[in-house]
Amino acid sequence: MDDFEFNITGTHIWYYYCCPREVWLMLHQVNPDEDDANMDLGRFIHEMTYGRDKSKEISLGNIRLDIVRQDKEGLVIGEVKKSSKYLKSARMQLAFYLAELKRRGIEATGELLFPKEKKKESVTLTADIEKELMKAIAAIHCIAAESRPPQARKIGLCKNCAYKEFCWA
Ligand code: SF4
Repeated sequence: MDDFEFNITGTHIWYYYCCPREVWLMLHQVNPDEDDANMDLGRFIHEMTYGRDKSKEISLGNIRLDIVRQDKEGLVIGEVKKSSKYLKSARMQLAFYLAELKRRGIEATGELLFPKEKKKESVTLTADIEKELMKAIAAIHCIAAESRPPQARKIGLCKNCAYKEFCWA
């Protein structure tokens, strides 16, 4: 897939940190099991979102923000998740949004919200996180360029994944 071009999205970042194989499958447009009640391809992110009012979603290029507000400290963007189970994925997804805003000249801080768990976590775009994001983005491009998906690795996500028949049948 030499001429394979795509824009990295928060969904790719989120999946990269929990299942790189799914990133490959999504990017290669392998159709998941249409009959699977848990059919995802990005929808899983929505399923992980609690109480989202879609009318308040804000889209900017390839990013989609759950919450945007102006605090006395500055602009805050928020991402609402149903569970903190995939915390690293959630942190890096939000960091990716912060980096995309920064690229457009907008400084902001991030807030991850887990209403069901009554938890909240701040995410700041540090130089280290930016470096890590760049590595993740490069790794996603490498995954996309492979002719075969990464090896399946059984994780908690598999049981709700539309690709489970593909990976584990
Ligand atoms: S079934 Fe598991 S290994 Fe396969 S794509 Fe889904 S999460 Fe990844």
